[in-house]
Amino acid sequence: MRHRAGQHYDIRLTAEDGYQAQRSYSIASEPEREGELDITVERINDGEVSTYMHDVLVPGDHIEARGPIGGYFVWEAAMDEPLLLIAGGSGVVPLMSMIRHRAAAGAKNPASLLYSSRGFEEIIYYQELEKLRAADQGLQVFHSLTRSQPPDWKGYARRIDPDMLKEVAEPLGRSVQAYVCGPTLLVEAVANTLLTIGIKSDRIRTERFGPTGG
Ligand SMILES: Cc1cc2nc3c(=O)[nH]c(=O)nc-3n(C[C@H](O)[C@H](O)[C@H](O)COP(=O)(O)OP(=O)(O)OC[C@H]3O[C@@H](n4cnc5c(N)ncnc54)[C@H](O)[C@@H]3O)c2cc1C
Repeated sequence: MRHRAGQHYDIRLTAEDGYQAQRSYSIASEPEREGELDITVERINDGEVSTYMHDVLVPGDHIEARGPIGGYFVWEAAMDEPLLLIAGGSGVVPLMSMIRHRAAAGAKNPASLLYSSRGFEEIIYYQELEKLRAADQGLQVFHSLTRSQPPDWKGYARRIDPDMLKEVAEPLGRSVQAYVCGPTLLVEAVANTLLTIGIKSDRIRTERFGPTGG
């Protein structure tokens, strides 16, 4: 089924003894790609489902997928306001679907991604984001690495804070449409800060992925 950028699927695994576990995973691919879809799963070390997907699942295995789900945390290329995307960790996944959709649809609205990761190795889609940014003057990508940075790192090196958000958001003006996704604490802190820098609450859409994310 065709999805909208930002939607997710519920994935259900069933063991031979009938035990079931279900988690939500955002769709990473753009709606324009029909007939298949990508999900991107971060391995949570003590996690039940994400470790199974990384360590046990092999091509040819069957899983149950229910979706696409969600009508609020979605972006369509026809929405032509400047786009402000803010992610922590795997929270970048639904935002990547939006960025890929924006590129596939040839949308011209200015868009900025501010993406917080722990270290350089943890950045998801780094190369693809670099390529998309190089090909599109309307797309800006800002990274912040909170725990460790390579020696020649030129991006931000701290948790997302009001000064950082101002630097990224202000050039887009106040009519931005903002999407914030990631660990619960990050999402709440960012959404509150966006309000204090003058972005109205009806312009801010949020999605929470996990308890804290550290
Ligand atoms: C709408 C939605 C979309 C999502 N999309 C994605 C996605 O695209 N990619 C993705 O990797 N995850 C995504 N998640 C998170 C995902 O659903 C699972 O919560 C995650 O994979 C952990 O499941 P688990 O079974 O491995 O861990 P669990 O066994 O459920 O939990 C193990 C431990 O990890 C902690 N934990 C649980 N979730 C997280 C988390 N997200 N970050 C840090 N710690 C956590 C728990 O508190 C617990 O201590 C999404 C969640 C929602 C609600």
